[in-house]
Amino acid sequence: MLPNAIQFTHRPVRGYLAQPNGYCAGVYMAIKALVWMTKLFPPPVYCYHEIVHNGFVVDTFKQAGVVFVDSIDEVPEGAPVMLSAHGSSPTVISTAQERSGIMVDSVCPLVTKVHHEVNRRAAKGYDIIFVGHENHDEAVGTVARAPSHTTLVEPETGLGGFRARDSKKVALFAQTTLGLHEWEEVQLEALKRFPDLEMSRKSDLCYATTNRQDAVRKMSSECDLILVVGSDNSSNTNALVRTARTSGKAAHRIDSIKSIQPEWMENVDVVGVTAGASAPDHLVQEVLKVIDPVEGWQPFRVTEEDEYFPLPHGLRTLLDSVSSMIRIGLTARADVAGIIGFDRTTTAMDALTALDFPVAV
Ligand code: SF4
Repeated sequence: MLPNAIQFTHRPVRGYLAQPNGYCAGVYMAIKALVWMTKLFPPPVYCYHEIVHNGFVVDTFKQAGVVFVDSIDEVPEGAPVMLSAHGSSPTVISTAQERSGIMVDSVCPLVTKVHHEVNRRAAKGYDIIFVGHENHDEAVGTVARAPSHTTLVEPETGLGGFRARDSKKVALFAQTTLGLHEWEEVQLEALKRFPDLEMSRKSDLCYATTNRQDAVRKMSSECDLILVVGSDNSSNTNALVRTARTSGKAAHRIDSIKSIQPEWMENVDVVGVTAGASAPDHLVQEVLKVIDPVEGWQPFRVTEEDEYFPLPHGLRTLLDSVSSMIRIGLTARADVAGIIGFDRTTTAMDALTALDFPVAV
């Protein structure tokens, strides 16, 4: 239901919808994994940190009996717990394993890749510069891989007073969701100061971050205003806003249609819309409906995405066991059995919708 309260005095002539926008493969995987946990266990299921940084998704899970905690010590002994997509520190993982009856880590494999790089260089005695946002869950989890070797630097401030013990043994890694332009500036500065700098062979900025920013940068050249759907603690959402502004265009982050200010639309002939990697599509569709440009919406496509990340290993093992129990008739949970094996074709929204029927096996 769209709120009647939003009235625009000026209707844009044309609108573009960035392609790709919204959910990435890591978010799909994490949402589906947590839905499975709520299907397999009676509430409460615990989740360490927000499963993904989106208010709508988190609230939906809360309604289904998921309890989000910021300290793993808040998880009662023996309770099922999931660790968020942003990645957790080794201490959190081992504590969760000890305390919990069932622990599933839904870290995105592209964050795990950066963890491996950090571990590898730390083991070789490198000083590691990690470019990320202080207190962001992903940055906290990555720095904790090798805290005595790693210095966190903010993308906006660059290397600052960083000093290496040996200038020939310095490595540079990044949070997966940084703004490309900010990351490139730090990279240049680091290469100037440390010509032997070690980095990942492929950029640490993930495909979803890169593609969404590429789309919004190109789309900005055609638009007067860019709206980015996503939550305020979503790093990649904020990077999309900064990318549009760096292209010289007015840009605003919105949680949903309720955040749109009618005055933003004044003098806007062409509007562009995109969404961060954890923003559900129905929120985007509501924005398209409420703005309703005279000539309608056109896709602004820069690339296709077909990445798929399978469910976390621990959860797959668990589901295989349940599947076997169902086959031999130990449980009548046909709705659980029906989806097992079809994960690739089950969308995150299908999974969230399934939360309407939270049942314990
Ligand atoms: S934004 Fe990138 S790193 Fe983060 S969950 Fe999505 S694919 Fe993984």
